[in-house]
Amino acid sequence: MAVKTDIRSIDVGIWIAGQWVETKEKIAVKNKFNGETLGFVGKADKEQTEWAVSNAKETFEKVKLSPYERSVILNKMAQKLKENKEELALILTRETGNTIRESRAEIDRCVFTFEHSAEEAKRITGEMLPINSMKGHENRFGFTVRVPVGVVCAITPFNGPLNLASHKVAPAIAAGNTVVLKPARTTSLSAVRFAELLKEAGLPDGYLNVVFGGGADVGTWLLHDQRIGFYSFTGSEEVGKMIKQETGIRRVGLELGNNSATIVCSDANIEQAAELCVKRALWKAGQVCISVQRVYVHEAVLEQFLQKASAIIENIKVGDPEDPNTDIGVMHTEEAASRIEAWVHEAVEQGARVVCGNKRNKSQFLPTLLTDVKPDMKVVCKEIFAPVVSVIPFKDLDEVIRLVNDSDYGLQAGAFTNDINTAFYLANKIEVGGLNINDTSNWRADIIPYGGIKNSGIGREGPKYAIEEMTELRVITFNLSH
Ligand code: NAD
Repeated sequence: MAVKTDIRSIDVGIWIAGQWVETKEKIAVKNKFNGETLGFVGKADKEQTEWAVSNAKETFEKVKLSPYERSVILNKMAQKLKENKEELALILTRETGNTIRESRAEIDRCVFTFEHSAEEAKRITGEMLPINSMKGHENRFGFTVRVPVGVVCAITPFNGPLNLASHKVAPAIAAGNTVVLKPARTTSLSAVRFAELLKEAGLPDGYLNVVFGGGADVGTWLLHDQRIGFYSFTGSEEVGKMIKQETGIRRVGLELGNNSATIVCSDANIEQAAELCVKRALWKAGQVCISVQRVYVHEAVLEQFLQKASAIIENIKVGDPEDPNTDIGVMHTEEAASRIEAWVHEAVEQGARVVCGNKRNKSQFLPTLLTDVKPDMKVVCKEIFAPVVSVIPFKDLDEVIRLVNDSDYGLQAGAFTNDINTAFYLANKIEVGGLNINDTSNWRADIIPYGGIKNSGIGREGPKYAIEEMTELRVITFNLSH
């Protein structure tokens, strides 16, 4: 499909009470492929950040939407996203450096997340409590209801700006909350159209306020605002830990990093495993929290796997993200690409072997396959967030389980095997939030509970589960002997 090029040039402030409000300072958002300035958003000052929260709080108290009304708005937003897919995909591609195919796929996911949140908005229920089953409480009756937390603060990273905003904003609205969204500074433009489309979909003013700025200023002010009831954060481990520390006893959902592992057993379909491992390691140039980073391949099929994987990589087209034939765009910044170059260089100095790739041109880093790596090399034990995969041989299942679990992270993992007993053995032993059998770590359907253990985070996303996180459980009891 040809790429649309005639998109509106964006120059706005911040979004409060359903309109753009001017700011003293502006943030220029750049095209990550050619460095051109794409547009401007307003940088909120402290007063304006507080205003965004006040407006969200007042709206929560004054403007109530029934579950049915929320569901209708969320469905209309899904429709708006479909109608504006090409424009949104182009904004995403330019501001992230992801390919146009990846951006179109991102919008499709947003559509699903809104549609599914619309359904879940009508399914928020409580439960009857069998209090009268307790001796001495025979005359009691009770049930639970789920009540919205009030104001949800959504803080999103650069790598999937609309997908991750949708996974926070749609369930928050479904649950009856209002939202203050703070996108990543470098990828703020897509949130402009997102906010406008939600208004067009019928979301009352004040239900979504959007403030732009950095973590050290706007982000920190938001963390200190006690009127916020829940923080839904996706981003780095470092910032996630700080958010937990700064928000005291208020609740948080943290979707953080990972050095994702995928296991390829000797009985697996090696062709399929190699193809999926490569594809899912290179999606968005590896800038995905569950991107395939460590592939543990049984030694009996190691050579076969390496040959197949490197042959696939040879045919990958790296280039202009707007070209529909491009497979991999650019990394988010040149600094990110040179950090990766340094990590690979260090690994090679320590004995790693480059099977293919390991070339950088500004912010473009060629897909890279490494082997002969060691567990303590950065390319293995830290989150690489780049199109770099380490292939590591193993001899038996218990050894590979130990290697996979020897990580500070635990988001998702994958395992290829044709043996059901092996699959269940791994399911029982691998320490992660989610394990994909006969797929890689980098598979996710937006309906499933998604989140990590260890330093990969707290809580689960996916509309149904996010709604649980964004509501409080209230217990109502009756004394029937009154
Ligand atoms: P980041 O942590 O640098 O920034 C994320 C957001 O936090 C941005 O909006 C930033 O402005 C804000 N922020 C930074 N400092 C803050 C502070 N002190 N207070 C409040 N907000 C602050 O992350 P990034 O570099 O944009 O994204 C990459 C990271 O995100 C990777 O580690 C990746 O694994 C992770 N990620 C995780 C998931 C997941 O679902 N688990 C998905 C995508 C990305």
